[in-house]
Amino acid sequence: MPHSTRPYDVIVIGGGASGMMAAGRAAETGKRVLLLEKNKKLGEKLAITGGGRCNITNAEEDERLFLSKYGDADKFLHTTFSQFCVKDTFSFFESRGLPLIVEAHKRAFPATERATDVVATLVKYLATGKVDVRTDVSVRHLVVVNKRIEKVQTSAGDFSAHTYILATGGVSHPETGSTGDGFSWLKELGHTIEKPTPTIVPLKVKERWVTQLAGISLPAMKITFFVNKERRFARSGPLLFTHFGISGPTILNSAGKVADLLHEGVVTAVIDVFPGVEQGALDRKLTEIFDANKNKLLKNVLKDIVPPGTADIFLSLLPNINPETKVHSVTKENRRQLAELLKRVPLTIIGLMGFDRAVVADGGLSLTEVDTRTMRSRKYENLSVTGDLLHITRPSGGYSLQLCWTTGFVAGSHVS
Ligand SMILES: Cc1cc2nc3c(=O)[nH]c(=O)nc-3n(C[C@H](O)[C@H](O)[C@H](O)COP(=O)(O)OP(=O)(O)OC[C@H]3O[C@@H](n4cnc5c(N)ncnc54)[C@H](O)[C@@H]3O)c2cc1C
Repeated sequence: MPHSTRPYDVIVIGGGASGMMAAGRAAETGKRVLLLEKNKKLGEKLAITGGGRCNITNAEEDERLFLSKYGDADKFLHTTFSQFCVKDTFSFFESRGLPLIVEAHKRAFPATERATDVVATLVKYLATGKVDVRTDVSVRHLVVVNKRIEKVQTSAGDFSAHTYILATGGVSHPETGSTGDGFSWLKELGHTIEKPTPTIVPLKVKERWVTQLAGISLPAMKITFFVNKERRFARSGPLLFTHFGISGPTILNSAGKVADLLHEGVVTAVIDVFPGVEQGALDRKLTEIFDANKNKLLKNVLKDIVPPGTADIFLSLLPNINPETKVHSVTKENRRQLAELLKRVPLTIIGLMGFDRAVVADGGLSLTEVDTRTMRSRKYENLSVTGDLLHITRPSGGYSLQLCWTTGFVAGSHVS
């Protein structure tokens, strides 16, 4: 029978990170594969990952430590990762002409720093395996007959295969195509779906001055969170101001804990702009700098002390200090207030941003209902599930995409 008229062995629904990996892998093992994607292009979410640079995995070599980042799910994932782990991700992309680089906190990126190159590598993988890719086709329904998926109904008619891989993603950034369709289908099929909540997500703050700092970063701050003025926890690292609040890896990874605090009471935070310096030492440093710049305007001198772009806003938080004052007229008390502010910039956290801004939402198919050696559903033997559809909480840092590569590869390897 000519290749093109053979029935499909597998239909992969969703052409994101895990779906492309699953489809390419199944084709590599000799299967005839159809990939259905509702967008006009494959990998729309993948193309915006890591701020367009794609934090493709995390180069943590200690597998135990790596898997511990998935919390309670780690016990299910040993057999999955034994088939495709971080070093396989490196060799997969590097052997296809996309070398990876490792940055702070072991975050790995393509050396070209372009997420679109990751998409292109996967598209090539699909072409090499002669995967039949149909974009602009929206799957509407999975038809079940005798406890097996019989066919899929789509905007372009019905398609059938022996096996189906569901890779439609979660609910974060729905404009990229991840609108939660897979969750609804799995629920209809009788699977248990944990309710999704945004987990890796920026924080909304009440103070409006942050909007004037949108796009500006504090490269190395410490933020301490309080509930009803009682100290709860602190994190150090970079912070990014946004139009609605604060973001950046340190904040994104604090969001899960902050979500819990918001249930307890009023959540406030203070930012320490100079975490390595005690307040007294900072005051002495300011004194030295002020003495050396007596005749300059305070606002200009402060610009050389604080992170770029923040001086005017920080001064506006101290209404009794005139930014136009010459430094020699700044009183000792004003200088002390300035040092105190830089050690404790106050914020009120009013919530988490929603799914539209979330990097990752948890929730999804409970792992107890998946055979993680194959990624097959325990209820439907010809259905596998990958990527963000699975209920696995994880931090930012490349852990989400590694899950996609691993679960996609494993699902694609076990098409019967
Ligand atoms: C802004 C942002 C930045 C991120 N950065 C990183 C990062 O740097 N590193 C990292 O590890 N993770 C990152 N993530 C998380 C990562 O992108 C996801 O974990 C990953 O894309 C999930 O892949 P997936 O295959 O499960 O689903 P998705 O990538 O969401 O793909 C699902 C696909 O299915 C398609 N689809 C949905 N419904 C249908 C339907 N009915 N019919 C046909 N097709 C359908 C969608 O259009 C979509 O293309 C980021 C996420 C966001 C939102």
